Amino acid sequence: MSKKQPAAESSAKSPASPAPGEAAHKANLNDTVNLHVEHAARLIGMREEIYNILMHPKNEIIVNFPVRMDDGSYRMFKGYRVQHNNILGPYKGGIRYHQDVTLDECKGLAAAMTWKSALHDIPFGGGKGGIKFDPLKHSRDELERITRRFTHALAGSIGPEYDIPAPDMGTNAQTMNWLMDTYMNIAGALDKNAMRRVVTGKSVACGGSLGREAATGQGVVHCLVEWAKDHRFELQGKTVAIQGFGNVGSWTAKILSQLGVSLVATGDYKGYIANPEGLNPHKLADHVKKTGSVFDYKHGTPISRDDFFAIECDIFVPAALEHEISAKEARSLKAKVVAEGANGPTLPDGDDVLRERGIDVLPDILANAGGVTVSYYEWLQNKRSERWEAQEVAERLERSMKKTYALMRDFAEERKVDFRLAAYAIGLERIQKAYLERGIWP
Ligand code: GLU
Repeated sequence: MSKKQPAAESSAKSPASPAPGEAAHKANLNDTVNLHVEHAARLIGMREEIYNILMHPKNEIIVNFPVRMDDGSYRMFKGYRVQHNNILGPYKGGIRYHQDVTLDECKGLAAAMTWKSALHDIPFGGGKGGIKFDPLKHSRDELERITRRFTHALAGSIGPEYDIPAPDMGTNAQTMNWLMDTYMNIAGALDKNAMRRVVTGKSVACGGSLGREAATGQGVVHCLVEWAKDHRFELQGKTVAIQGFGNVGSWTAKILSQLGVSLVATGDYKGYIANPEGLNPHKLADHVKKTGSVFDYKHGTPISRDDFFAIECDIFVPAALEHEISAKEARSLKAKVVAEGANGPTLPDGDDVLRERGIDVLPDILANAGGVTVSYYEWLQNKRSERWEAQEVAERLERSMKKTYALMRDFAEERKVDFRLAAYAIGLERIQKAYLERGIWP
């Protein structure tokens, strides 16, 4: 990149002091992701015209739609789908249901999907979408109607070879089943079956893949295992603190417990809990299923957000919202390694502090790619009308995560850069190569 690019760091600063249990994610995620891209583009000497293409999503779709509530009233909802880049394959990425969803957040998350797929050599591009509302405040029937109405509004903009949604925060296999069913019903009878792979992360009964539900957590653990080998760090007997106990956090905790790593603290939107003797992740997951939160779990002691970030532990896994680790949190962390289960959990100033303190970060686009990797396997199984055994999915995922980890580590060592910069640089190089070989038309 020859010329100085417009500064991307403007609003990517940490807010002063968030209230306990309240995320510090008000900064602009798109700025944070673009800042990583800017650094990586400089490192690989990216051509300016390609860089400029990649700084903007191809399409930004906003839909407003009415949904009937259980009491007979109608409420308007605002939904987004951002399609960042599709040079390596169809747009791919989750759908988020959360009250803080914004266009800028979707832009940042969509771009992160482009880099994630490119880094892991998955033939997909990047996309992300969401609806700005709190799913916890709605009945199952309302959630179904919201999902179906959103799918209908987006139907002309997604497709099994064009843009393929998946679960993200606030959505799950049930949401994806409704999305699939609505889309399949809109399609003509002859094409119906080929439409099944318009979405991944479906339940197994509806065409989902074995292993998809645990895949993101499993991928985080594969990266930790590889990092531990490189650092002669015996996982057995170590401790972990995990922010967020949804799909990613709970599966990471369960799989780590099989390796002898005990969960000493966790938390969610209601607050944080700790137990130095270890929290049973299976019982805790059951508790969350029943009550919607970890907070009042009887074997945990409530602690503040500040105490959570300062807790004694060997491994820290952010698995909640973006922008949770600013310089302040990074200064208090006791862990030796941070494995990013969430997308964009670390602010640039948090990264600086972790680097200065010698705490390794396994970056999001490396560590949380297990989900999109098994989404790709699901899409392939649907396309070929196949069913893969759990072991086949598990082996492929393990091979893929380990290969990418090694690639990133070797790049980082050779170029003397941190893992995040190495991960972005590998993704950018793959995309730049495709642009250079195809040319920019016309
Ligand atoms: N939402 C997940 C992510 O951020 C999964 C995306 C997918 O499976 O397409 O990586």
